[in-house]
Amino acid sequence: DTLINQIAAGEVVERPASVVKELVENALDAGARRVDIDLEEGGVRLIRIRDDGLGIPPEELPLAVSRHATSKIASLDDLEGVATLGFRGEALPSIASVSRFLLASRHRGAEHGAALEIDGGRVGEVIPRSHPQGTTIEVRDLFFNVPARRKFLRAERTELGHIEDWLRQLALARPDVELRVSHNGKPSRRWKGEGDLLSEVRLHEALGEEFARNTLHVDHAAAGLRLHGWIAQPVYNRASADQQFLYVNGRAVRDRSVAHAVKQAYADVLFHGRQPAYVLFLELDPRRVDVNVHPAKHEVRFRDARLIHDFVYRTLHDALAGTRA
Ligand code: ADP
Ligand code: MG
Repeated sequence: DTLINQIAAGEVVERPASVVKELVENALDAGARRVDIDLEEGGVRLIRIRDDGLGIPPEELPLAVSRHATSKIASLDDLEGVATLGFRGEALPSIASVSRFLLASRHRGAEHGAALEIDGGRVGEVIPRSHPQGTTIEVRDLFFNVPARRKFLRAERTELGHIEDWLRQLALARPDVELRVSHNGKPSRRWKGEGDLLSEVRLHEALGEEFARNTLHVDHAAAGLRLHGWIAQPVYNRASADQQFLYVNGRAVRDRSVAHAVKQAYADVLFHGRQPAYVLFLELDPRRVDVNVHPAKHEVRFRDARLIHDFVYRTLHDALAGTRA
């Protein structure tokens, strides 16, 4: 079983950033309002994620780390949701098979917490352990038992950079959640919880003051589609490819067709050849979009791609044209 998990880990776990992603997404699924992320050596030595979510009862700890155990499919009705969100019950066993892993938790309403250690896939006993409500997962020495993969890890700064990029992407989509990051024992980043709306403060923190000062807010709905967010105005000339954030139904994605629509709107209004900068949220009926089931991929397929392209183009074109006067 450890071998199967290690093979699965090859898909789910590429580097420390993929571990952080899986664990933080689990924390959010558990309703966490605050997530603490402690890292050492770019996450290679240690990734510790602590959340204040629902928690896991002691008797369910072994289940949480066993293959294809997901608590997120309550009924058949949810199967569509499963396909879109990619719940596969694979992340924890995969990560635990290629690290020294600790899961500690206290379920809401339970009096006592418990912990379970897994060493390179070898599952220990559930032992009582005090813990506030919520869950802590520690992942130490990633790939310590898979030298061929460990070899591919990059310098500490590079791995940390990947983690920070992903957290920035998340912070823009989830302004309601507080995120605290520390690296090698020093606090490195704190995103305060701000309520449901992305504020200019968080926008500023994520993309810089220049961007925040020179953006145009858009919010337009038609034909069951809604596009809202921020796009840089003409005066902003520092845009780069890492300032292009697109979310479909709250999930960060890359989509060529939408990216093209944004670029085209830019070019047609006035900014020939300039890279657009944006944070855009597209909302539509989930049945109109296929999300790649692979948890690590970010591509989507729209049922009516042409319509969506034109809607995005039109919305941004009109908004930008309005600023020209
Ligand atoms: P999936 O997220 O696809 O269900 P995972 O392997 O990521 O699979 O997690 C397995 C299960 O462990 C989850 O379905 C959930 O029940 C439980 N779990 C994992 N992380 C947490 C957490 N931070 N808080 C509460 N439950 C968790
Ligand atoms: Mg998960």
